Amino acid sequence: MIMEVLVRVVLGACVFAAVWFLFPFAVRRLSEIRLCRLCRARRAIVLSYDDGPGPALTPRLLDLLGASNVAATFFVLGRNAEANSDIVSRATRERHEVGSHTFGHGNAWKVGPLRAARDLARGIGTVRRLGGDGRLFRPPYGKMTLATLADCLLRGQRLGWWTIDSKDTRDSGARRPAEDILAEIRSRGGGVVLAHDFDKAQTQADAAPGATSHADYVMDLTERIIGLAETDGYRLMRLGDVMRGARE
Ligand SMILES: [Zn+2]
Repeated sequence: MIMEVLVRVVLGACVFAAVWFLFPFAVRRLSEIRLCRLCRARRAIVLSYDDGPGPALTPRLLDLLGASNVAATFFVLGRNAEANSDIVSRATRERHEVGSHTFGHGNAWKVGPLRAARDLARGIGTVRRLGGDGRLFRPPYGKMTLATLADCLLRGQRLGWWTIDSKDTRDSGARRPAEDILAEIRSRGGGVVLAHDFDKAQTQADAAPGATSHADYVMDLTERIIGLAETDGYRLMRLGDVMRGARE
């Protein structure tokens, strides 16, 4: 009798986990495959930056992108966007795409569904108020539950995934070498590159002799990808344009 109850509990937990976590994960994987195909078909590279704006790094990035006449996609954190609204305004004025990444960066797998819903709504509201695209959303850590997926769909959000992770938030020495990322772009025929533009606190490893700061890594990677696009004939596009199938 006890065994039977136990088996039912375990089976119930498995079914719950499959629906609650694995279904959104499967949706994400399918979307990523589609995104890879879209990028390859258009020979497109998307530069995407999460968690900003950072008052030190983002203006440097905007200068570099502007000098190269490149438009990128920023998934801003509501709390950082509110504190640096002038930078968000500059980004939208300069043709960059500004989507939402929640207000407080809550991990949907760890916070409750109500808290995740509030974080999502507040982030979208902030982006809309600051003139960004209130319909483009990237989940923090790429994590979603069935509740957050349903919430996004009900709010008419387009989910903006990435296909190539630079792992830039790791310490110097543990990040992916830029050459490695350029090689992946070449092998995939394009892609959506994930990096971050918040002002990351310098760690001991980043400050060691010969190490690179997070900001310098992101700047160098961006410059190299722009160079690759020029030499190898890729188009640097905004994520929403790739997803919409824009031809420009
Ligand atoms: Zn993030």
